[in-house]
Amino acid sequence: MNTSVNIISIKAEIRERLLAWYDDHQRTLPWRARHGQTPNPYHVYLSEVMLQQTTVATVKAYFERFINKWPRLENLAAASLDEILVEWQGLGYYSRARNLHKAANFLSRMLPFPQIPEDLIVLPGVGDYTAAAVSSIAFDYPIIPVDGNIMRVFARVFTVPISLPKLKDEITKIAESIACKNRSGDFAQALMDLGATLCKPKDPQCTMCPLKTVCKAYQIERVSDFPKLKLKTEKPIRYGTAFVLIHEDKILFERRPEKGLLGGMAGLPTTPWEQNPLSEIAAFEPENGVEWETLPKAIKHTFTHFHLYLSIKISISKRPPKGLWIASDAMETIALPTVMKKVIKEIPGFFKT
Ligand code: SF4
Repeated sequence: MNTSVNIISIKAEIRERLLAWYDDHQRTLPWRARHGQTPNPYHVYLSEVMLQQTTVATVKAYFERFINKWPRLENLAAASLDEILVEWQGLGYYSRARNLHKAANFLSRMLPFPQIPEDLIVLPGVGDYTAAAVSSIAFDYPIIPVDGNIMRVFARVFTVPISLPKLKDEITKIAESIACKNRSGDFAQALMDLGATLCKPKDPQCTMCPLKTVCKAYQIERVSDFPKLKLKTEKPIRYGTAFVLIHEDKILFERRPEKGLLGGMAGLPTTPWEQNPLSEIAAFEPENGVEWETLPKAIKHTFTHFHLYLSIKISISKRPPKGLWIASDAMETIALPTVMKKVIKEIPGFFKT
């Protein structure tokens, strides 16, 4: 048999083996249609937005809360941004919630739900991966969304000898050549499940794997060499100061600019977050002239691209300036970024959060 015929038959075998395995071993997930059910595009879309940057285990409870509160896309579209941000608290990457709000409004006006990746990718917050995932899972469009799990599976099965970021292009080509015309959504989800349950980054369970007879890395006993890893770079550290101005039982917040980190959310006034720990000259110091007490402990918070150390200055205001004053018992009704909650927890005996 020549090489190209051989590769075609390997790909056919991968599809066949994986789909058979999926029929018996698929994970039960709240957004996933059971065998014989038609997938709900709203559920698939909402779960894929939540799963961007967040684990399945964390997303489950959030997804169920959202669906209980907003059972249909039209209900979500009718919700205010603040209501969505409150329910989103703790999931992080709040731009996803803002995009969800905009996209739900857009989608509810253009129903039926768009089916092909080219029509989905125009939605705010939807990139290549999410468009492919929704299209394939909800509508059986023949495409494979390439995420970290799927990259790992294919890098091992085909012993792809390159590392990120070029690895993604190579795996995308493999994915295009192997996508199923029938049961495309099941095949994509089977790959996701295989990557999450057996073909894990550490300690893959190859002896239980449906692909072990076609997996090159397993056959040459070099599974731990794939995917090739790129060298890790250390996250930089940034420093800043948060100002906590208190008046009676209220604290002064500001609305952060729409664009940028934690965009559009309520936050405490802070200095810019700089790489130099000594550059904490207050760019914003509410009530100039009041005396600020610096708390002994700074808080540490880690964002995707950097670690942040925020020192905390507190003052009591007798003549409060205009601004977004929030009472201690209303803290839970507004969407506050986790980093700001950490600051508030440092104020002894004042807030309930
Ligand atoms: S045999 Fe092992 S390395 Fe290959 S796909 Fe299966 S779990 Fe992954």
